[in-house]
Amino acid sequence: MLRENLKQVEENIVKACERAGRERSEITLVAVSKTKPVSMLSEIYECGVRDFGENKVQEICEKRDLLPSDIRWHMIGHLQRNKVKYIVNDTTLIHSVDSYRLAEEINVQAKKINRIIPILIEINIADESSKFGIAKEEALQLAEEISHLDGIQIRGLMTIAPYVENPEENRPYFKKIRELAVDIAKENIDNVSMDILSMGMTGDYAVAIEEGATIVRVGTGIFGSRN
Ligand SMILES: *Cc1c(COP(=O)(O)O)cnc(C)c1O
Repeated sequence: MLRENLKQVEENIVKACERAGRERSEITLVAVSKTKPVSMLSEIYECGVRDFGENKVQEICEKRDLLPSDIRWHMIGHLQRNKVKYIVNDTTLIHSVDSYRLAEEINVQAKKINRIIPILIEINIADESSKFGIAKEEALQLAEEISHLDGIQIRGLMTIAPYVENPEENRPYFKKIRELAVDIAKENIDNVSMDILSMGMTGDYAVAIEEGATIVRVGTGIFGSRN
């Protein structure tokens, strides 16, 4: 059943790429496996998926020990500074940096293990009070401030768009993220590239791809609904 779900998601991604004149290889599908058992992750792994997204530090720690080591773990949830040390060695990308202090702590932990950690700045694009992330007006300043931390590498932007029935409603938000990334890239800040746009979830990933997403984060569409 999961295999069928994945196939459907893949087909939708390919179609969205065709509509947008993009290559499938420009987009990374992150399978969002939060709350799901390791057996389900294994099933999707067997289908060839290597990128998994989790929103809790503890869950990444538990699952990584039980699964193959070539999995690329994406931290997509709100990250507390005191927990950075537990995942810094095992995450391929931290999507959810929304403060200088968090970036600073990632930098400290990265240096301890001699790594440079790629991160994204999380934007609360619809200014929803229920969501983490910074306002788009603050993004350039934060990018500038954290650019001098040489244990991290700023690779782009991430957003969680509002929950909507009709994904078209989120198109303007995805466009804004893309424009914001272009504006920040133009500043040519050392250590800041804007080549990754992590946007689009089960309800709206096709629209996000049409608007320039390079990572889509799909949970329900692959693993079924969560409790
Ligand atoms: C849960 C989650 C997703 C996946 O949501 P679905 O609607 O199930 O695809 C994507 N991104 C983040 C940050 C999440 O927390």
